[in-house]
Amino acid sequence: MQVGFIGLGNMGAAMAANLVKAGHDVTVFNRSAEKAPPLAALGAHVAGQVGGACGGEAVVSMLADDTAVDGVVFGEGGILATLPHGAVHVSCSTISVALSKRIAEAHAEAGQLYVAAPVFGRPEAAAAAKLFVVAAGAPEAVDKARPLLEAVGQRVFAMSDSAEVANLIKLSGNFLIASVIESLGEAMALVGKAGVDPHAYVDMLTSTLFNAPVYKTYGGLIADRKFTPAGFAAPLGLKDIRLALAAGDALRVPMPVASLLRDRFLTLLAQGGDGLDWSAVGGMAARDAGEK
Ligand code: NAP
Repeated sequence: MQVGFIGLGNMGAAMAANLVKAGHDVTVFNRSAEKAPPLAALGAHVAGQVGGACGGEAVVSMLADDTAVDGVVFGEGGILATLPHGAVHVSCSTISVALSKRIAEAHAEAGQLYVAAPVFGRPEAAAAAKLFVVAAGAPEAVDKARPLLEAVGQRVFAMSDSAEVANLIKLSGNFLIASVIESLGEAMALVGKAGVDPHAYVDMLTSTLFNAPVYKTYGGLIADRKFTPAGFAAPLGLKDIRLALAAGDALRVPMPVASLLRDRFLTLLAQGGDGLDWSAVGGMAARDAGEK
């Protein structure tokens, strides 16, 4: 398929590479031009502006946050203004429910298709084409996007005809992951202060009742105190907790644990954690307990 790819960050660069490897004709665009040459080396074309990546049957966007997506979609020469009639915009960024809904309405009005397809999995999973993709949108749009989604992920879950539902589900999942990071951090601080080896503890947990990727990945990172490089940066984690709380506001769903997590992330950033992985929240309980 002739496809554009906008946003070559930690996730997007790997996803775009997998589209090229799957045989798609890919044109990439990134705000900072220096991230494009490695994709060109794999066989991608490089566009100098957003519109240069929007001439085909589809364009995938994988950008940091609402501000970035809003600008790239609605800005002058953006996706909305340049994507052909009948082509599909596949938005993989983790963004607010409200923005996703606004984008869906704008594309429908312009005669373009739209799929919200946020993903679960860190950059390593993106590189291995092992992401889990949560897709939503009109069935015709999801069908059109499916070959692209299958090229970047190990499984595609089509969840709803309303695109923004995918964003809500993604935010609920990141809320759960952040809750695990915090609670693992507290449990590991507790046993760690009594002298239990953190790696042996995580091995015991994940070999028994907590045999799940999220405990393995984050248990390992917290045990190693390995919070750099940031595969998923702490500011993006705070963004997602805020977006989950905003979705809860809109639906009148109180989320007391999410409120606590918001303060945990704010504390981490206030103490200079911008460059750390979001798993660094899992190291805070040990610090509170007087450990190094
Ligand atoms: P990242 O490495 O920080 O990359 C962000 C991308 O957005 C870069 O291409 C950046 O361009 C671009 N960007 C930021 N602000 C922009 C703006 N105002 N205008 C245009 N482009 C802008 O982030 P990431 O880790 O790849 O994450 C991308 C999205 O995936 C986020 O929504 C994140 O929540 C979600 N996600 C991440 C992970 C993960 O583990 N990392 C997992 C699942 C989902 P520049 O290169 O010019 O800065």
